[in-house]
Amino acid sequence: MITIKSKSQIQKLKDAGKIVAETHQLLKEAIKEGISTYELDKMAEKYIRSCNATPSFKGYGGFTGSICASLNSVVVHGIPSKETILKNGDIISIDIGAYYNGYHGDSAKTHGVGNISVKDEELIAVTRQSFYEGLKKAYVGNRLSDISNAVQSYAERNGFSVIRDYVGHGVGEKLHEEPQVPNYGKPGRGPRLQEGMVIAVEPMIATGTWKVKVLSDGWTAITLDNKNAAHYEHTLAITSGEPELLTIL
Ligand code: MG
Ligand code: MG
Repeated sequence: MITIKSKSQIQKLKDAGKIVAETHQLLKEAIKEGISTYELDKMAEKYIRSCNATPSFKGYGGFTGSICASLNSVVVHGIPSKETILKNGDIISIDIGAYYNGYHGDSAKTHGVGNISVKDEELIAVTRQSFYEGLKKAYVGNRLSDISNAVQSYAERNGFSVIRDYVGHGVGEKLHEEPQVPNYGKPGRGPRLQEGMVIAVEPMIATGTWKVKVLSDGWTAITLDNKNAAHYEHTLAITSGEPELLTIL
């Protein structure tokens, strides 16, 4: 069942989302050659807890991190580790969730470390823009897959592929609610968008194949061809007018 949120619930989602955005800002400034994803994780956890919030991902299905830190060919769900140390030329996707006052915020961004390749610059830019292409369809009366199709069309038109195995989702009192929000598919399918629906749209885009495998840790999802992938996500509310991004400063 898709739950419709009231204006006061959307305000609470925005409060949680702001903490997520602030944490992203903090990590963006900290990302540099030589730092481990464990250190980034601790920094994020400390900040989230200082806001009287809790990291949404910590303990979720047994996940040990407060953030997901997915390096290069890792698409999503990279586990923060002291052994994963950023180096010049890497790209790192950071996914952050915060639970505050009964509601979650969920947002992901991909950053380059030092000087990255032109191809990786393009991958990050196309992934980000594919989100905004989807956002253009996030209006009352459209169908859910209009968003999915806009993301896919833009990514593929630019020569990249769309991950199929992981999708966006509703957000609210639970981190993952209905509906699922795929980043691919034909337009005109799925539920009609209604005022008060809150969803996380999160394109995961790959340089090569969209096929992934999960490593033996049970979490780390990497591309089958080991080529790089990027991730971009915001939680947003469908309104009677423009969609409202909830995970922003
Ligand atoms: Mg996320
Ligand atoms: Mg999400």
